[in-house]
Amino acid sequence: MKRGFTLVELLVVLVIIGVLIAIILPNTLRAIRQANTKECASNIRAINTAIQMCYTETRNWASCDTIDELTGGGYLEGTPTCPFGVAYNIIGDGANGYHVDESAHFAGWPQAETHN
Ligand SMILES: [Zn+2]
Repeated sequence: MKRGFTLVELLVVLVIIGVLIAIILPNTLRAIRQANTKECASNIRAINTAIQMCYTETRNWASCDTIDELTGGGYLEGTPTCPFGVAYNIIGDGANGYHVDESAHFAGWPQAETHN
């Protein structure tokens, strides 16, 4: 004999699904956040390395201080995109050299695991 679910049975199923989501979601979000943070840190390292390679060859900071110059010169493959949607700004001066401004991406990078 066929019968439908009772309201109580449906509610029990919904509560179980809700509990499962509540358990799984925070871990999933943290995993995504950690993966994005690693990708961003990796991008920053790649850009900083490209800046150094560019300067080593050109001895001219002014031609190594934009992403376009780095990709155009073949020091950087493609344009890195921050998974958090923050632009990679290159800062510095001729005396101390140039590097990516990490402050917009990390507090206390590279130690911190969190992304602003
Ligand atoms: Zn970032």
